Amino acid sequence: SLELRALAGELIGDQPDAWDRAGAIPEDLVRKLAEAGALCAEVPARYGGLGLSSAESGEFTAYVGSRCSSLRSVMTSQGMAAWTIQRLGDRGQRTEFLPRLTSGAVAAVGFSETGAGSDLSTMDTEIRSDGDSVVVDGHKVWVTAADYADLLVVFGRYEGGAAAAVVPATTPGVHVERVPEPMGCRAAGHANIRLDGVRLPAANLLGGAGQSTAMLVTTALAYGRISVAWGCVGILRACLAEVRGHAVSREQFGKPLGEHQLVARHVAELLVAEQSATRACEHASRRWDERSPEMVLATVLAKYVSSRQAADGAASAVQVLASAGARDSHPVARAYRDAKLMEIIEGSNEICQLILSEHVLAGAK
Ligand code: FAD
Repeated sequence: SLELRALAGELIGDQPDAWDRAGAIPEDLVRKLAEAGALCAEVPARYGGLGLSSAESGEFTAYVGSRCSSLRSVMTSQGMAAWTIQRLGDRGQRTEFLPRLTSGAVAAVGFSETGAGSDLSTMDTEIRSDGDSVVVDGHKVWVTAADYADLLVVFGRYEGGAAAAVVPATTPGVHVERVPEPMGCRAAGHANIRLDGVRLPAANLLGGAGQSTAMLVTTALAYGRISVAWGCVGILRACLAEVRGHAVSREQFGKPLGEHQLVARHVAELLVAEQSATRACEHASRRWDERSPEMVLATVLAKYVSSRQAADGAASAVQVLASAGARDSHPVARAYRDAKLMEIIEGSNEICQLILSEHVLAGAK
């Protein structure tokens, strides 16, 4: 994973601010990382992947997240697509699609719709079998990385339950339209997708079709959650580095900012935020690597802790940098905008709290 970090570091360079302003990451760069298997580094070697453990992949995700949350978001989508295919696909589908995701193809995952946000049981998108084809009709919103994607993993209603289909973005009837002016992760290629009578080979319908929506989306979201959680650790590390540099170099009232106790408290709280988010993620990754039944809960906990800490921590970082950080593309300002969105996606904070409280209350029955 050190080699991966060096590759990503070299490709990213000092460009994240410019990507944020432009609202796009150069496609050839996304492609290079995809070709190296770096966007979904946990795919096993037998499918052409790097086969990193969750803990190793998490540290890599945090590194990319510390540099650029947009690129990290693209990684989260690719990893979630790969995980969904690995878990729901049959052997043929794994052999067909996973090597593509580790050799250059980019993928995105669509659950959300205009009327189905937190409550995905109200999805309107319809997936139906028609002879040896599958037909998809619907509309997805806010799909991260869709603007870069070659493959779209689309969830919808199917025969009384739900299903996911792998939709090549060039299939007739697929229309991808960028979400205008996202508040953060501005270069992550968020797009709305319309699917009008999209006809695919039956082999593109992932196994597990017809199971409950909750079962299917929980599988996909688990990967998204742990990836976002590690990405938030990266946001906190970037904020800590900016605050450290500023608090020792900027003087007011005759001494460095960091020697004023109210500023020192911000510094201490940022360290606590970074450390507690890291520990929650490490714990979840260990459960993940053991394939422990506790992994789902540990992942929700990590996502909740990390995204809250990142949103609060980034706000403190802007406070300490003050006017020095109060430009849209300054790393702390970017962190502030990006981190806030992490409290919304892959199960908002409120939805995570409901899952955590359900766990506690179920134990009392
Ligand atoms: P709503 O569901 O309308 O919720 C509004 C508010 O009400 C929230 O605060 C929510 O927590 C709260 N709320 C809702 N229900 C309850 C409840 N039962 N109890 C308490 N509070 C509740 N979607 C995809 O499919 N793929 C993607 O790749 C993707 N990427 C995204 C990237 C970004 C940057 C953003 C902002 C969104 C993305 N989304 C994506 C959509 C995202 O999953 C949804 O925004 C999210 O699920 C919340 O849905 P909503 O925005 O419709 O809010």
